[in-house]
Amino acid sequence: MMMTEACVLHGQRDLRVEPVEVGAPGAGEVLLDIGAGGICGSDLHYFLDGGFGTVRVRQPIILGHEVAGTVVALGAGVTGLREGDRVAVNPSNPCGACEYCTRGEPQHCLEMRFWGSAMRMPHVQGGFRRRLVAAARQCVKVGDTVSIGEAAMSEPLAVALHAVAQAGDVRGRRVLVTGFGPIGGVVLLALRHAGAGEVTVTDLVEEPLLLARRLGAATALNVAAVPDALANEERDKGRFDIAFECSGNPRALAQAIACTRPRGTIVQVGVGGAFDVPMNSVVAKELRLVGTFRFHPEFEHAAGLIAHREIDVRPLITATRPLAEAEAAFALAADRRAAMKVQLSFD
Ligand code: ZN
Repeated sequence: MMMTEACVLHGQRDLRVEPVEVGAPGAGEVLLDIGAGGICGSDLHYFLDGGFGTVRVRQPIILGHEVAGTVVALGAGVTGLREGDRVAVNPSNPCGACEYCTRGEPQHCLEMRFWGSAMRMPHVQGGFRRRLVAAARQCVKVGDTVSIGEAAMSEPLAVALHAVAQAGDVRGRRVLVTGFGPIGGVVLLALRHAGAGEVTVTDLVEEPLLLARRLGAATALNVAAVPDALANEERDKGRFDIAFECSGNPRALAQAIACTRPRGTIVQVGVGGAFDVPMNSVVAKELRLVGTFRFHPEFEHAAGLIAHREIDVRPLITATRPLAEAEAAFALAADRRAAMKVQLSFD
């Protein structure tokens, strides 16, 4: 059995770079040389808090589900991929047979084995490793133009495309995005690409707002420094057509509810546990308050948009650190003033 190096979380704040086994690719599988992997909010929660909600790290888990790499060997029967192909890897691994998979909603698969997730026992191992065996159907070619780090942004961009799809036609609409971390960032890029009108972004920290302006937000407001910065948008029952709540902060959702016009749509993207919602306003304004979870067909779409730089994700990748510095990279990713998306490189 060959060995490879991986980024393994053993428990809260116990992150180790250590050898793990890597097998030969079986039928329908490929062996990948991973090039880059983005640190996601869920990876950070596992590292900083040992989990989130009822999901706890109960055994060693290789983190990471935003990865891209190069095909180095093919298993039997693989078609459509060749050695040397650069690919974004879809971390979604639905069973293909349950009620939701059959219905074409595999993001709700009853037996989902999403990479780098501690929801199930045994945990589903992730992609922060130099060498990885993946199903060929999880690999989407990205060509040779973009960096492997850009390709690794396919997963978060897919999340954003799926979120934007929940709002229907966004063309020309006035849109609010609350929370400008990496997901707020890809939501803004997806909105601009989809032809949204004026987009207003809010956050509690100044540095991400500077980036939001650079990426085309018409207005970027610090609602910590100026708590009533959105007051003008509450006029006439609300001025935004659509809101994307990307912070998971109950105050941000309350602001979105106050600022969204009657019959408008609020897409809750951020996760924040149980919190109070001004439900009277949701009812009286006939708001549509909808959730959004992961993605499915959007992954391939996202990889294509990135491969052709129809969406340029480079401004969101603010740091790349070698695998050996994984712990420092996680600390950097947790610092919202210093970083948006931090990626590990596995060269
Ligand atoms: Zn299923």
